[in-house]
Amino acid sequence: MNTPHTKPVHEAPLTFVDPRHFKANTQVAVDDAHLRKSFRSAMDFLQTKRAAHFGTAQGALPPDGPAEVRDAKTAFETLRRQGEAIRQYSLSKLPDLLEQLDAQLTARGVQVHWASTPAEANALFLAIAQQHGARGMVKGKSMVSEEIELNHRMAEHGITCLESDMGEYIVQLAGERPSHIIMPAIHKTKQQIAELFAQHIPGTSYTEDVDELIATGRRVLRHEFRDAKIGVSGVNFLVAETGSLVLVENEGNGRMCTTVPEVHIAITGIEKVVEKLEHVLPLYALLTRSATGQAVTTYLNVITGPRRVQGEAPELDGPRELHLILLDNGRSQAYREADFRPTLQCIRCGACMNHCPVYARIGGLAYGTTYPGPIGSIISPHLMGLDPTQDLPTASSLCGACGEVCPVGIPIPELLMQLRHAAKHEAEPGHAPLAGQASARDWKEEAAWKTWAKLSSSPTLYRNFVGLAGRLSWLTPPWQAGWTAHRTPLKPASQSLRARLKGAGLE
Ligand code: SF4
Repeated sequence: MNTPHTKPVHEAPLTFVDPRHFKANTQVAVDDAHLRKSFRSAMDFLQTKRAAHFGTAQGALPPDGPAEVRDAKTAFETLRRQGEAIRQYSLSKLPDLLEQLDAQLTARGVQVHWASTPAEANALFLAIAQQHGARGMVKGKSMVSEEIELNHRMAEHGITCLESDMGEYIVQLAGERPSHIIMPAIHKTKQQIAELFAQHIPGTSYTEDVDELIATGRRVLRHEFRDAKIGVSGVNFLVAETGSLVLVENEGNGRMCTTVPEVHIAITGIEKVVEKLEHVLPLYALLTRSATGQAVTTYLNVITGPRRVQGEAPELDGPRELHLILLDNGRSQAYREADFRPTLQCIRCGACMNHCPVYARIGGLAYGTTYPGPIGSIISPHLMGLDPTQDLPTASSLCGACGEVCPVGIPIPELLMQLRHAAKHEAEPGHAPLAGQASARDWKEEAAWKTWAKLSSSPTLYRNFVGLAGRLSWLTPPWQAGWTAHRTPLKPASQSLRARLKGAGLE
C-alpha cells in the first residue's frame, strides 16, 4: 500500500487575522450563522461534559438542591481550593523553583535553554535543527509553539514542522490558528476537513466518513514520526524537585513525538513549574475534568531525562537528546505586578472559553491571538502588549461565568477590568507601566467625562446645562459614531423629566 504524503505544509496560505481588527473580525464572525451554530453546540457539549463532574453554575446552586449536585459542587470547590493554593504557592516561589528545575534537569542530562522572546526561542529551535541537519520536525500539541509561530518561522528556513495532533494538523493544512486551546479545529465541519484532506494529501479522495478521515491522518503522521529527526512537544507541568516534564494528552502523538525521534525539544512558559510531583495530581484532576470532562486522559507522560545509555541497564528507546526551552515572552511583566500575577495561575483547560457567551458567538479566530476567549483577553496583553490587544478585555459582558468555572480560581472579570483601566490610563506612581499602557487613551473621551463630572456635581450648572441642551436639541447630529449604526440618534429631550413633572403638578 502506498503511504500518502502531505504537500509541504508551509505552502498552505496563511489566514491569520490581526487583533487590531478585533471589532471588524467580530462583525464577520457574528454574521456567520453557521459558525455561531457550530460553536454553540460545541460549547454546550463541553459544558455538559464538565458538568458531569462538577455540576452546573457553581455559584448559584440552591442549598437544598439534589444531593448529587451539592456533592459535585463541594468536590469542585475542595479541589479548586487545592489547585488554586498550589498554583499560588508555586508562583510565590517561581524564581527559586526555576533555578531548582534547571539544576535537576541538567543533572539528568536535559539541556535547558531560556528565551525572553519568540525570536530567541525560534533561534534555539533553528540552531538545534541545523546542528542535526534536520529538514523536518514532528510536533505534538503545544500552544507555546503557536505563540512563537514555530511552524512558519521554521518554514522560512526550509524546515517543515508538521503538527501531529489531529486538530492541529487540520488547522495547519488550512493555514489557520487554532480556534480553541484544547480543540484547535472545533470550528471546522467534517465537510471542510474532507475537502482539506482531499486537497492536501495526495491520493486521498473526498470522504465524509469520520473514521476514514482519522485513519488517513494517522497514516500520514505515522510515516512522519518514523522519518523525523526532531520531535517537539509542549509541557503541561514542570516538576522542580524531580526535574520532570509532565505531558497530558489523548491521542498518543505526544508520546510518539517525545520517544521516537532522536532529539526531543520541549517548549513551555516559565510559569508552568510546580515544586513536587504530588502537586501535579490535583492540577491534573482539575485540568482533565474542566477541559474535556474526563476523569483521566488516555496518556499521562512523565519525562525525566533523555534515554539513559550508561549503567547496568541501558534504555533501548527514548530520545538521545532532550532540550527544554523556557519562554518568558511577557510573563515576567504579569508576574511583576501583584494585581496581574494570578493570570499566570492558568493551567490552560479552556473552561473559561467554553462558558463565555462572547467566545461562543464569535469563535476563536476573531481574536487574532494564540489564546482566544477570556484567558486570551487576560494573557495576550502581556504577551503582545496592550497596543494591539486593547479591545480584547472589552470583549466581555462581565457576567462572571469565566471566573466561576476557572479551576484554579483566577479572578478573570477583575483582571479584565484592570486591563481595561490600564489601556486607558497611565500607570499609577510606584508601578511600572505595562507594555502599551494607556495606548487606548482618548483625550476627547476623558475631557467629556471630566466635564460631565463637573456638571453633575453642581445642581445649578446641571440644570442650566440640561435646559440649554433641550433648547439646542435640533442641532443633534443624525450620525453618532457607532451608536447610530443600529439605533436612532440620541437626542436631548426638549424638557427635563423634572420640568415635565413640575408642569404636570407632580413634583
Ligand atoms: S483561565 Fe482558568 S478556566 Fe481559563 S483556561 Fe486558564 S485555568 Fe482554564
